[in-house]
Amino acid sequence: MLVSTLSEMQQWSDEVRRSGKTIGVIPTMGYLHDGHRSLIETAARECDLVVTTVFVNPLQFGAGEDFARYPRDLERDIQLAHRAGTHVVFAPSGDDMYPVGYATTVDVGPIGEKFEGAFRPGHFRGVATVVAKLFHLTKPHVAYFGQKDYQQTLVIARLIADLNFDIRLRVLPTVREPDGLAMSSRNVYLQPDDRRKASIIYRTLRAAEQSILDGQRSRQRINAVMYETLASAGDIRIDYAAAARAETLDEPEEFFSGDSVVLLVAVRIGSTRLIDNLLVRVP
Ligand code: AMP
Repeated sequence: MLVSTLSEMQQWSDEVRRSGKTIGVIPTMGYLHDGHRSLIETAARECDLVVTTVFVNPLQFGAGEDFARYPRDLERDIQLAHRAGTHVVFAPSGDDMYPVGYATTVDVGPIGEKFEGAFRPGHFRGVATVVAKLFHLTKPHVAYFGQKDYQQTLVIARLIADLNFDIRLRVLPTVREPDGLAMSSRNVYLQPDDRRKASIIYRTLRAAEQSILDGQRSRQRINAVMYETLASAGDIRIDYAAAARAETLDEPEEFFSGDSVVLLVAVRIGSTRLIDNLLVRVP
């Protein structure tokens, strides 16, 4: 079923909740791929009813970013979402989500200011705001997000805790192409040459992981492994390539045995900006 209006969405959710059934939600910007599909399939296994939201949220794009050209194909999304186990595709309009006079935003503080937040000022305010709205509209028991957007999962965890959303957060592993490239709606922007180059991102993460497993503890040395590996692929602009504490995104001089480290990469290849990450437990 396709739901486009906010009131119809809330009514549906109210009825489902009254009947004692559970709702899982998967917020997306559409142009669905196998990464989204794995979130939907898991939600379908774990919840009675599944809502996939499709909304390219203008609030999380900066000036000069790709909001206007972001790929869109609602018909295809509806089919894929339903085949994967979605009961409702919720695709609201921008005017309904942000009517004239709209003013409220949700700011999650420091966790949204580093890395992606530094390169995309206001991005996580846009994300937290739209996700809070989608939670109120779809009233889920469980919300599904991908590890692909690692910092986003920390932002959502903060949002849920701080604003007392009675929602369980499930973060699922990144789904990758055979060469390791994380699936992303933005991969369609990549010209064939750039697409080949993009496989360096995952190889970079694995090289840094290997250095940690081989005993490297110095954050700067681990970062250097990532910069050097990315540079070996030629013309790639690096926004950041950084190891950080997985829970807080703090950047200590050194990591210690038992630490959870997240390796974060954001690069631009041609006109396409790509992000990826890998979690590593320090042996
Ligand atoms: P997006 O449509 O790109 O905003 O993504 C919607 C949700 O799907 C987010 O929670 C993403 O983290 C997740 N997602 C995107 N790509 C992947 C992937 N390759 N593997 C797993 N989850 C993903």
